[in-house]
Amino acid sequence: MKRIVILGAAESGAGAAVLAKVKGFDVFVSDLSAIKDKYKEQLDKYGIEWEECQHTEELILNADEIIKSPGIPDKAPMIQKVKEKQIPIISEIEFAGRYTNAKMICITGSNGKTTTTSLIYHILKSAGHNVGLAGNIGSSLALQVATEHFDYYVIELSSFQLDNMYDFKADIAILMNITPDHLDRYDFKMQNYVDAKMRITQNQTEEDAFIFWNDDPIVKEELKKYNLKAQLFPFSEFKGNGAIAYAEEGKYVIEIPTPFNMEQDELALRGKHNLYNSLAAGISAHIAGVSDQKLRESLSNFAGVEHRLEKAGRVKGISFVNDSKATNVNACWYALESMTQPTVLILGGKDKGNDYSEIFDLVKEKCRALVFLGVDNKKLHDNFDSFGLPIKDVRSMKDCVNACYEMAQPGDCVLLSPCCASFDLFKNMEDRGEQFKQCVKEL
Ligand code: ADP
Repeated sequence: MKRIVILGAAESGAGAAVLAKVKGFDVFVSDLSAIKDKYKEQLDKYGIEWEECQHTEELILNADEIIKSPGIPDKAPMIQKVKEKQIPIISEIEFAGRYTNAKMICITGSNGKTTTTSLIYHILKSAGHNVGLAGNIGSSLALQVATEHFDYYVIELSSFQLDNMYDFKADIAILMNITPDHLDRYDFKMQNYVDAKMRITQNQTEEDAFIFWNDDPIVKEELKKYNLKAQLFPFSEFKGNGAIAYAEEGKYVIEIPTPFNMEQDELALRGKHNLYNSLAAGISAHIAGVSDQKLRESLSNFAGVEHRLEKAGRVKGISFVNDSKATNVNACWYALESMTQPTVLILGGKDKGNDYSEIFDLVKEKCRALVFLGVDNKKLHDNFDSFGLPIKDVRSMKDCVNACYEMAQPGDCVLLSPCCASFDLFKNMEDRGEQFKQCVKEL
């Protein structure tokens, strides 16, 4: 019997283990950290052997194939040993893809993945398609393939998941954009990260679709290197340059696969970045056969995704917006760009090698004040002190929201869009966003 060893037992690893077991493999799961109870129960339920807080070499290096959690870097000592023994390493998505004929709609990009994935799922589900949501959101693809029967999957793919994908094919591939992120995992070489993102197109044939942002300078250059067979669906903010979907005179327009338009004002999601997300989602839904009426309805009644430009309340004429998910500078740029009121901007956290110059102009144009929420705010001061804006340093969300409330005036917006990861003061970006919303409620 072929032996499959799964390294990392969180959502994707536990799901892959269940699928491997159901398909009759000899399965073993190993995690260097403690495994959450939820996943232990899942593994036990299927009679799958596991270990936690250690990697036992003899039980791992006898595998025929290894499924690696996207969270484990290639540099991890056990991965190095697996590579030395030349045991093939694949991702959970690659594995799950072998056992389903469902149509795969796959979304990647540096920013906009979760929003676009959730929106496509909303549109397809509202249109009555038999569809599952997978990847970085919800339950793993592997678990769903093991236990459900969907005709479509909408899958959010990070570059880490794409790294270990080889034969998998997206029927509809969507590339939102490529800007620097996670470079620490790619030897600080941007091209390595770009190559990972471009894998979304691999194995596509003439029957498949590749939807991408036409104005992304990096993608534009990359496409010259590839001889893609898939049908191309470039979208843009503007008509021209070959874009088949765009905004024109207040209208949201899709030309192919079938013509469609609606008022831009009716789109549920606001801001330029969300126009891109809505265009990508609309094209893919049309390809999947969703009717004009259903598409129009769903694009206008989508409730949005938590922690992404989420309305967090209004107190004495000051509105509060939670964009805690903006953990890089580019995401903050789009959040600021969408602001129509004077803004008190909250920045700070764990810096991933940020270049703040990207937002200098927007900060000058839109911000009334800045609040730095972090353990070490030196780099923020170095970048922004010369702007002459009022600035406050805080180390807790309560102090942060109080400071913003004092500095803002009626009609202003307080925007949490911190450009940084949250781990210096919070458990994760969700915790940061929850605390923000709670503190606003308590004002
Ligand atoms: P991801 O899943 O790729 O991290 P999200 O949809 O969660 O993306 O959005 C993360 C942040 O990125 C949002 O808070 C928003 O400010 C910004 N964003 C969303 N869509 C886009 C886009 N298409 N281009 C640039 N930035 C975006």
